[in-house]
Formats: sequence, C-alpha cells, structure tokens
Amino acid sequence: MSSDSYQISKPAGEVIFREGDPADCAYVIEQGHVQVTVNRDDEQVVLSDLGPGEILGEMAVIDQYSRTATATVIEDCVLTLVTPEQIRQRIDQSDAVVRSLLDILLTRYRSELSLEQGLPMEAESVFLKQSGGIEKIRFENDLRRGLDNGEINVVYQPINCLRSGMTSGLEALVRWDHPTQGTIPPERLITLAEETDLIVPLSLYVFRAAVADFAEFRAVAQRDLFASVNVSPKHTVDSEFLNRAWDICTQAGGRPDQIMLELTESVMVDIQQLTSWVRTAKAMGFRISVDDFGTGYASLEYLTRLEPHTVKIDQDFIRPVTSDPRHAAVMRKVIEMARELDVLVIAEGVEAPEHVRVLADMGCDMAQGYAVGRPLTRSRAAEFLAPAPAGGRSRG
Ligand code: C2E
Ligand code: CA
Ligand code: CA
Repeated sequence: MSSDSYQISKPAGEVIFREGDPADCAYVIEQGHVQVTVNRDDEQVVLSDLGPGEILGEMAVIDQYSRTATATVIEDCVLTLVTPEQIRQRIDQSDAVVRSLLDILLTRYRSELSLEQGLPMEAESVFLKQSGGIEKIRFENDLRRGLDNGEINVVYQPINCLRSGMTSGLEALVRWDHPTQGTIPPERLITLAEETDLIVPLSLYVFRAAVADFAEFRAVAQRDLFASVNVSPKHTVDSEFLNRAWDICTQAGGRPDQIMLELTESVMVDIQQLTSWVRTAKAMGFRISVDDFGTGYASLEYLTRLEPHTVKIDQDFIRPVTSDPRHAAVMRKVIEMARELDVLVIAEGVEAPEHVRVLADMGCDMAQGYAVGRPLTRSRAAEFLAPAPAGGRSRG
C-alpha cells in the first residue's frame, strides 16, 4: 500500500474497514472496486459493489457510530480520504431542517439494519433532538399560518427632528403575537424567515402595512412623514423586492421618496452587489438609510459608495456619548463628516432626555429611542401624530 496525506492505494483482497471498527474517515473511490458486506448468521451478505466516483464509509462518520459493514477491495484501488472534520463542517453549515432529515434517514436505516441482524432497534438519535430541525419545521408552519391569520403586527417608532422637536418619520417594526408562545422577538422571527422563503411574504406584509398606515398617519398629522422600513440583506441580491415594493407603494397612491429603506451594516454582504441594488432603489425613488452604522464591517465604504440619505448610529455607540469624551468626540466628527457628504444623522436608542439635549447640541439631525417615543401600535401612532388642540403642545 502506498499513501500520501489524502490518497491511499490498496491492493485487491485488503480490508478497508471491518464491522465494529471505529469510524475514522470516509473514502471516495478514484480507481478500482470495493465490496461492502455484512455478517449474517456467520455468512457474508453483499450489500453493494462500489466503483469509481462512489463514496463509502460516510455513514458511520456522519453519525459517529462504529462501522456496521465490512469493506473489502476486490480490484486494486486508489482512494481519496474524506476526514470527519470535512464532513462535519459541511453538515454544521447546513440548514437545521436538512440536518434533521439526514439524521432521521440515518436512524431509520440503522434501525432496519439492526432489525435484520436481530439486534435491538436504534434509539432515537440524540443529534435529531439537538439540531432543533423538527421544532423549526413547526415554527415555520406556525409563521405561515400567522401571516394568514393576522398574528403579525407592525408597530411604529417615532423619529424626531432634534431642531424642531417634531416627528419627521417613523420606523416600522414587526411583531408576532404567537398564539401559544406569546410575542416572538423580531430577531428570532426575521432569522427564521430568512432561512426559509417566508422572508419575502413577511417583508412585503410589513411593507404593505406601512404603506397603508402611513397614508392614515399623514392625513392625521396633516403633513409629510417618512416611513422607515427594514430590508433584509436577502432582498438585496436582486431587484425582485424593489419591484414588488414599488408596485405596492404606487398602487396605494404613495410616493417611493416617502419611504426610507434601512439596510443594516452589521451583516456582511457583497458591497458591489449592494451598490448596484441601491442605485436601482434610488432610481425608483426610494430613500436609503444605513442602519446600525458603526457596528459593521464597512462603515466608511457604505458611506462613500452607497451615498445614503441617512445613517443611523447604533445605540451602543450613542449610550456613552454623555459620559465618555472619546465617544462624544467621535460622534461630533461623524456628524461633521455626514454633513459634508449631505447625509442626515439619526441617533438610535436614545433613552435619556440628557442624550436628546447633548445630541441636539452636537448638531445631530434626528433621534429615535424611548426618550422620544416607544414603538406604538397603528392606532396609538395615529393619536400621537394628531396635532394638539389649539393652545396645547404639539408632539407630532
Ligand atoms: P433595529 O432596526 O435596530 O430597530 C431598533 C430596535 O431598537 C427595535 O427593536 C426598537 O424597539 C429598539 N429600540 C428603540 N428605541 C430603543 C431604546 O431607546 N432603547 C433600547 N434598548 N431599544 C430601543 P425591535 O423592534 O425589537 O427590533 C429589533 C430588530 O429586528 C431591528 O433592529 C431590526 O433589525 C429587526 N427588525 C424589526 N422589524 C423588522 C422588519 O420588519 N424587517 C426586518 N428585516 N427586520 C426587522
Ligand atoms: Ca432599523
Ligand atoms: Ca438599528
């Protein structure tokens, strides 16, 4: 037998592995033939004859069992080694549902094999329980139903101009009131939806709700207001979402320039692709905001290449602005830089009145956060935006 780090040669007659051996790797047959057999009542029963291009020994590597068959070279072989790490890495990167399905198939196959050999049935795999795939399928069906049954709601958080104190726009934030699990955090909901096709209907649902609700908000407030809508990075790979969003907006009598599409900076995407997407969005009339600015991989690139209308500075950066002079200095410079680039700055997660004052003094354009207003249901947002009766103080 000759070998190098990833390929081995084995002569006819040699056993590659035996039933009961620990599984240290799988093999791809490059040349030659291998016979896979099992021992039944002291007789070797042939399970398969494998040739070039076929893989063997992968099953025990995937589920980390010992070998349940014996592989013997029947014609001189050259084999490429596949390490458990190579396989495990691919499996770990795959979708939880795919992992569960793989595990179900393997457990079932092993049970049948045990039954045939008169051995006890395989217990339900631990891996199946750990991977959460079944729970995910359930959750996915729940979400499908939730979209049909009106369990998905959109709330609106005011974004105020720091000079006038007036509300300039509101951010649409999705909520899911699950019938048995209560309110599902949007991060969990979005992550699940992004892993499935459901992100498209979910995003369009939020978009449609925002377009309709803003028509009411503008009528109530008797002035223009921009609608900020979060866009999943999944939608920025083609113009499908943009086309659908444009249709929804214009068919409802809205204008795309009243809509701010928020693109998070915290998820790594192909900047070239994103730049071209942003160009299309702008040509359609949409406004662009860079969300979570300062938390991502490419803040300055986003600012220069995407030429956004606004940047939203993440709350983790805003919080220390009143207590830490270095944060304050950076914030001042970001505002200065944005002004030079004709980009408006929104401070996010502004929780204390003192922050509102300090940010206004720094020349920050807008603020969003509990100190300005919490996310509000549609009806509460409409109440919030209604001009105060004559003599009263207007909030909107
Ligand atoms: P985000 O876009 O950064 O939204 C701001 C989040 O900060 C919201 O959380 C909001 O409720 C919260 N927040 C606002 N003011 C304050 C404050 O003063 N203090 C603190 N501690 N938090 C504040 P929410 O609604 O839980 O949303 C979380 C994230 O989920 C959003 O972060 C956004 O990334 C995502 N998300 C929400 N709705 C949608 C949606 O419709 N589509 C997509 N793609 N993502 C969404
Ligand atoms: Ca956002
Ligand atoms: Ca944000």
